[in-house]
Amino acid sequence: MKVVKFGGSSVANATQLRKVADIVLDDPERKVVVVSAPGKRSSDDVKMTDLLIELAGKVIGNEDYDTALSAVMDRFREIIQELELSEDLTETIQKNIQYIISSHESAEWTLDALKSCGEDGSAQILSAYLQSKDVKAAYVNPKEAGIIVSDEPGQAQVLDESLEQLYKLHEREGILVVPGFFGYSKEGRLVTFPRGGSDITGSIVAAGVKADLYENFTDVDSVYCVNPNIVSNPKQITSLTYKEMRELSYAGFSVFHDEALIPAFKAKIPVCIKNTNNPQAPGTMIVAENEAGYGRVTGIASDKGFLTLYVSKYLMNREIGFGRRLLQILEDENISFEHAPSGIDDMSVILREEELYGEKEERILARIQEELDVDMVNIERNMAMVMLVGEGMNSTIGLASQATRAFREAEVNIEMINQGSSEVSMMFGVDAEGMERVVQYLYREFFE
Ligand code: ASP
Repeated sequence: MKVVKFGGSSVANATQLRKVADIVLDDPERKVVVVSAPGKRSSDDVKMTDLLIELAGKVIGNEDYDTALSAVMDRFREIIQELELSEDLTETIQKNIQYIISSHESAEWTLDALKSCGEDGSAQILSAYLQSKDVKAAYVNPKEAGIIVSDEPGQAQVLDESLEQLYKLHEREGILVVPGFFGYSKEGRLVTFPRGGSDITGSIVAAGVKADLYENFTDVDSVYCVNPNIVSNPKQITSLTYKEMRELSYAGFSVFHDEALIPAFKAKIPVCIKNTNNPQAPGTMIVAENEAGYGRVTGIASDKGFLTLYVSKYLMNREIGFGRRLLQILEDENISFEHAPSGIDDMSVILREEELYGEKEERILARIQEELDVDMVNIERNMAMVMLVGEGMNSTIGLASQATRAFREAEVNIEMINQGSSEVSMMFGVDAEGMERVVQYLYREFFE
């Protein structure tokens, strides 16, 4: 059994939904389908979820919501009419929305319940469209499917008991269409995942039914080995491991939120990223192990917006607890750090720039100076991280020298190297100004 998930652009209009149906029907193993809400039809369009959030804002603020409601319903109506489905479906969707609006529940519930209507509508439309083609298909609400989540509105997390429930989907016949993005708490309350959360639904359903493959359809042919905005027409990655995917998405690679894949990873379900607009392309496989790719660079990730908090103190290496106390100061300020390379007399902590500003920054610098009695503490902003990712690369002779050659040729100074103990990545801190240039040279070095 395969679980197939389609993102917002794949269900944005009737043309896209027809492609979705063709893809589903093309392979009899594609039995469970998870859908997002209709996404943007063009770059200046608005996603259905954003229309619904706007509607919720009006309802919660006791404002006139007619225009916002019409914007939502017009989009659903257009899709339903173009697919030549019954008007009753438009009415069913509208009634559900009206019911939520008139329930006068808490603001949190109203927002979550309205947000869920995008995915819910997509799933109802797709199952009705499949039925109109004489295919045995059914809409399955997440409650019925058994997606049980924590009661954190807008931030739900899937609870483990979902897995057992979801396995029961095997007992059902035909194609099952499940809306993404929301589940139900143990008390039966509708709760949504964070934005982009339909991927979480896809992944948990794939894990629950123990799928042979989880296919995630988006609008790109595959995962690229480098950001296509930096290198034009970069090579596609045909296969990578979960660990590589995680490292790549950490540093600015955004095919989708890597955390969403965790349930599939844990259950060791292979994942394939494919393109709804070009389903014949092989896509990118994400697997638990990939021996063929061991010891090579799989991708280059890069991201700007980092700063280094640099601390130096003579004989730091003999001072037990220094690192802990430094990190404790950050913890007290609720700051999460990214990396912390250290030497004998110094330690750098790399943070996202937005973590440190204004008074908070002054307070932290003063505490470090006083409590740790350091010789020097300073902050360097405007840094970028460039990361080479590939399992086993750190134990492969010569890769680091290839990398540093690219830095030399690009004339970009390496301010920091962090190879760490992970076998998966090698990270370089550079001035943001040189990031794009060095990424292009690294691409040439490793992929051309
Ligand atoms: N529709 C939701 C959003 O726009 C969830 C998703 O598409 O994955 O964030």
